[in-house]
Amino acid sequence: MIDDDRHRIERADPPDRRRALRGAAGAALAGAFAAGGTGAVVAGCTGDGRTVTGHERTGRAATGHADTGGTGSGSGGTGSGRGTDTPGRTDTGRPAARSAPSPRRFPGQPVEIAHGPRDRGRVALTFHGQGDPATATAVRKEAERAGAGITVLAVGTWLDEHPSLARRILDGGHDLGNHTLHHTDISAMDEDEAFAEITGCATRLRRLTGSIGSWFRPSRTQHATPLVQRVARRAGYPHVLSYDVDSLDFTSPGAAAVTRTVTGRVRDGSIVSLHFGYADTVAALPALLDALERRDLRAVTTTELLT
Ligand SMILES: [Zn+2]
Repeated sequence: MIDDDRHRIERADPPDRRRALRGAAGAALAGAFAAGGTGAVVAGCTGDGRTVTGHERTGRAATGHADTGGTGSGSGGTGSGRGTDTPGRTDTGRPAARSAPSPRRFPGQPVEIAHGPRDRGRVALTFHGQGDPATATAVRKEAERAGAGITVLAVGTWLDEHPSLARRILDGGHDLGNHTLHHTDISAMDEDEAFAEITGCATRLRRLTGSIGSWFRPSRTQHATPLVQRVARRAGYPHVLSYDVDSLDFTSPGAAAVTRTVTGRVRDGSIVSLHFGYADTVAALPALLDALERRDLRAVTTTELLT
C-alpha cells in the first residue's frame, strides 16, 4: 500500500504539463501517419483479418496493404532522442535490463491467466506487438510519461522488421513476450505447426534479448486450446496469457470508443487486450490512463500484477 501511494504521488504531474506532452505526442503520431499511412486491415488478436469498410472513419483509407508495418519510411520510428529518454520508471529503482527475464511459473495461477488479484488496485495493459513502429513508440512513451508499465506481446516477423524495439521495450521497464512468429490462427494448427510458430518467435526474442520472453499469448484467439497450452509449456512457457477485457481497438472504432469500452469493463486485477499499429489506441491512451488513475487502478506490467 505504501508503494502504491508513493507511486501515485510521483505520477501527479501538473495537468498543464501533461496536456502539453500529450499534444506533442499526438502531433508526432499524426505526422507519422501522414508520412506512412497504416492501412486498416482488422487483424486483432481475435480478429479474422477482414478489412474495415469505413464506418465512423474520417480521413484514413479503410482499405490497404497487409499489416506488416513496412511503409518504407524508416524502421525506427522517431528514433532520435532515445538514450536520454528515461522518464517515469525510476521509482522502481530497476536498472536497464541487460538480460531479459525468462518465463516464470506463478504458483496458484491457472495455466491460462486471464486476470490478476482483484484486491490490489492494479491492472495490466497488454499490447499485441505488430504494425507501424511509430504507434509502438507513441504508446510506450505515453505509458512512461504516466509512470505506467505495459506488456508487449511481440509477433516474430515484426521483430525481424524492427529489431531495435525489443530492447527499447525492456529498457522502459516493461514486459516483453511472445505472440507467435506469424500471428496466424494457432488454434487451427497441428502440434508441429503450433510448436514452430511459438519457437520461431522465441528464437528471435532470445537472439535480441537473451530470453524467450516473460509471456506467451496465442495468436487470433482469447483462449488457448489444450494442445496450444501443452505446446507452449514444451516451448518453455508455464502459462499462456489471456485477458478479461477486450478493448476492440483493432476495429478502429475511434479513440473515445476505445476508452469507453475499456473503462466500462475494466476492474481491479483486469488484463486488458490492446494493439500496437492503430491510431485510435494511441489517441485513447491518455484518457484511459487518467480514468484508471481516478479509479485508483495502477497500470503495471503483467509480472507486477501477479507478483
Ligand atoms: Zn494479436
